[in-house]
Amino acid sequence: LNQQIASLPTTIFTVMSALAARHDAINLGQGFPDTEGPAHLIEAAAAALRDGRNQYAPLAGLPELREAVARSCARFYSLTIDPATEVVVTSGATEAIAVSLAALVNPGDEIIVIEPAYDTYLPVIRLLGAVPRLVRLTPPDWSVPREDLAAAFSPKTKAILLNSPMNPCGKVFTPGELGFIAGLVQKHDAYAICDEVYEHLTFGVRHIPLMTLPGMRERCLRIGSAGKSFSLTGWKVGYITAPAPLAAVVAKAHQNLVFATAPNLQRAVAVGLDQDTAYFTILAQDMMLRRDILAAGLREIGFGVLPCDGTYFLTADISSLGSVVQPGESDQDWCKRMTAEAGVALIPVSAFYDTAGSKPPTHLVRFAFCKKPLVLEEALTRLRDRV
Ligand code: PMP
Ligand code: GLN
Repeated sequence: LNQQIASLPTTIFTVMSALAARHDAINLGQGFPDTEGPAHLIEAAAAALRDGRNQYAPLAGLPELREAVARSCARFYSLTIDPATEVVVTSGATEAIAVSLAALVNPGDEIIVIEPAYDTYLPVIRLLGAVPRLVRLTPPDWSVPREDLAAAFSPKTKAILLNSPMNPCGKVFTPGELGFIAGLVQKHDAYAICDEVYEHLTFGVRHIPLMTLPGMRERCLRIGSAGKSFSLTGWKVGYITAPAPLAAVVAKAHQNLVFATAPNLQRAVAVGLDQDTAYFTILAQDMMLRRDILAAGLREIGFGVLPCDGTYFLTADISSLGSVVQPGESDQDWCKRMTAEAGVALIPVSAFYDTAGSKPPTHLVRFAFCKKPLVLEEALTRLRDRV
């Protein structure tokens, strides 16, 4: 057996969803919406099946989807992307992250990862024989420790993996922070893998792809996900935009790991990307409303609510809750206990830290607010009753 893989824990999202099901708890853990995506996209996918879109799609993705990705980059970010050579469609952003890393790294290369980090980053980096260099953001405002970040770059740095808007902290990197990161990437002749799956989920601030900064067009692999942009997380359709020489190598990694993604879903996602800008505006407004309901309720109960400018997620400090947290109780234990006792499932933020690293914060929990307002209200009632 491969011990690196065998020794990995089951992902916290699966652990907490299973626990939620066992206790019939409201699941504010794993980030998936409890409403379906647009009906016309689901119909487009179903129609494509009936139309005989049931054999292998082209390796790099259906031309119509690659063209829609390029149009979306032009519309939202004024990026000129060649759909024929600069877009690769993947089976979810999860695959996109893995094939981007596979395309870039050689054993011994270093990848800079910002903690808290999405849970697939570190295992894939290590599986490829690369070395993660971790830089921790500082709560409660999740600011970037610039000196630490600069010090993490070295002649061995191949890339930085940047997730903005960022899961789990809901942080959207500021223009100043992005400029600083772009400067470091260029100074060290490195690349950036930009996990932008929440690109359309920002609240009152603008998401700026690192790829749009001066000098970064040729150094970035930009990753999007239909799951997040169209509330269809089960579809697992992702897309990478990268300069042609990089996209060609990414396509080779995709060829050998997956080869091609379901053609009917690709066709429907192309329809989704071409929707009016109003669709994307309403998606974000609607999610912001949910964030506000949850944030206000949690504050009233006594949680310390951390800032959230984007994503599906709000982080909260449980150390202000007094005796509801037992002495020495970790965020992991507390989340499990609350699932059973309050009937609300959450995600401990410490799950987003390297298990081999120094002690992570254990006083923070993540709530997913991509749920119906009534469901959020019910979860708040349950927490209020317990806390
Ligand atoms: N990156 C981040 C930051 C995520 O939160 C997620 C989870 N949805 C993914 C990547 C994976 O996306 P997908 O479901 O498209 O594989
Ligand atoms: N991205 C989702 C989250 O952070 C989970 C996806 C998964 O379960 N793999 O909740």
